[in-house]
Amino acid sequence: MDYKYDVGIIGGGPAGYTLAIHACKKGLKTVLFEKDCLGGGCLNRGCIPTKSILHSAELAAELRCADELGIIVPNFEVDYAKVVERKNQVVSKLKKSLELTLKNCGTEVVFGVAEIKDKNTILAGGEEFSCKKVYVATGSSPKSFKGLEVDHKNILNSDDILNLTTLPESIIIVGSGAIGIEWARILSNFGVEVTVVEGAENLLPVADVEVSKRIERMFKLNKIKFYKSANVQKISTADGCEVTLADGKVLTAEKVLVAIGRKPNVEHKIDGVTYLGDACGEIQLAHYAIKQAIEIIDGIGFDKNLVPSVVYGTPEIAWVGKREQDLTPNTYKKSTMLISALGKSHCDNCTDGFIKILTQEDKIVGVHIISKEASPLVQQLAIAMKSGISPDKLKEVCFAHPTYSEGIFESLFNL
Ligand SMILES: Cc1cc2nc3c(=O)[nH]c(=O)nc-3n(C[C@H](O)[C@H](O)[C@H](O)COP(=O)(O)OP(=O)(O)OC[C@H]3O[C@@H](n4cnc5c(N)ncnc54)[C@H](O)[C@@H]3O)c2cc1C
Repeated sequence: MDYKYDVGIIGGGPAGYTLAIHACKKGLKTVLFEKDCLGGGCLNRGCIPTKSILHSAELAAELRCADELGIIVPNFEVDYAKVVERKNQVVSKLKKSLELTLKNCGTEVVFGVAEIKDKNTILAGGEEFSCKKVYVATGSSPKSFKGLEVDHKNILNSDDILNLTTLPESIIIVGSGAIGIEWARILSNFGVEVTVVEGAENLLPVADVEVSKRIERMFKLNKIKFYKSANVQKISTADGCEVTLADGKVLTAEKVLVAIGRKPNVEHKIDGVTYLGDACGEIQLAHYAIKQAIEIIDGIGFDKNLVPSVVYGTPEIAWVGKREQDLTPNTYKKSTMLISALGKSHCDNCTDGFIKILTQEDKIVGVHIISKEASPLVQQLAIAMKSGISPDKLKEVCFAHPTYSEGIFESLFNL
């Protein structure tokens, strides 16, 4: 059977565009369908826009205590509309660059809603596209539950909050996953009164339990209120926003952000079609989507137990591998080192946090870091873990001074 295309991809986010670029590099004739904007959730509604706004928020927080560092900035103001405008410019610049990359590598991009007719046929714009292999990379959408429905005006999801052009005075964030924690820190840095409500017994429940405890401490220091083991029963908007908890307590704020997870944009899976990225219902991270695409096309595998997680903000929160609560007591060793022990953290006025390394039988099995630059630090350990480099072997590496990575080196001697 002759097919018009070797590869047909639905969805132009990190999973879809990476698949397209790598397929084209292999000389495969590729068509990609996108119903909205190239770059997907990551570029348009997720990773990039939030981190762009976060950058402005962190600058505002630094300016607020700049006098401690000998820099006097009297009466600085936040022009939030401009913060959002800059975010839009960053997104637009990266989108243009992605469009060009796809064009240059020879991907045929078709804008419009696509659906699968059968395992070798995609329908879009009333046309049929025959493809030797079909991939679905349609991403995910914010979850909502009964009583937690968003109205996109006062009760917002993570897409809506990106479109605000003025800051609310107060906000209740329902859910303390990565998205909830990032927005709590962004808005608090801008001076918004923030309350976080989490149903689980710890904040950021996916993290190591000591990380969760440290976040509580950081929230207290930053005057971010939080409730744990607190289930939301309903949200009403009769008079401002009222969030009623299961124990009857009522919290009020100008806005509510519902950040309770995301569901794959796939109704049912079709045999013979491959699903990847958020759509496949595994790990919902852009780098996981990208690695899956590369594994499919180039056959370069990766260890799905060693996917780093990062929650952005100051300090960063990052981890890879097993959490302490996943390990059986007395089967592992642990080293925890305070970031305040590092000279660089004092120079940077950023002493909060720790580096925690977990080992089993002379193998590093988990790393949990709260620190400025935690994301590159965790990446160093991810490389060591993937390569099976033991703590003793890692001690042979020379770490520069003064840096945060010295903390890794120091921690190795406490195991
Ligand atoms: C607020 C927020 C912050 C985030 N921050 C991070 C972060 O810092 N780091 C990180 O790794 N991850 C982050 N994520 C997660 C990350 O955005 C996703 O894991 C990533 O975008 C998944 O990529 P994907 O290609 O699978 O799907 P998506 O990026 O969602 O792309 C799917 C694309 O498919 C298109 N599509 C859907 N259905 C159809 C159809 N029928 N026809 C045509 N096109 C269709 C959509 O329009 C979309 O463009 C964040 C997410 C959110 C919401």
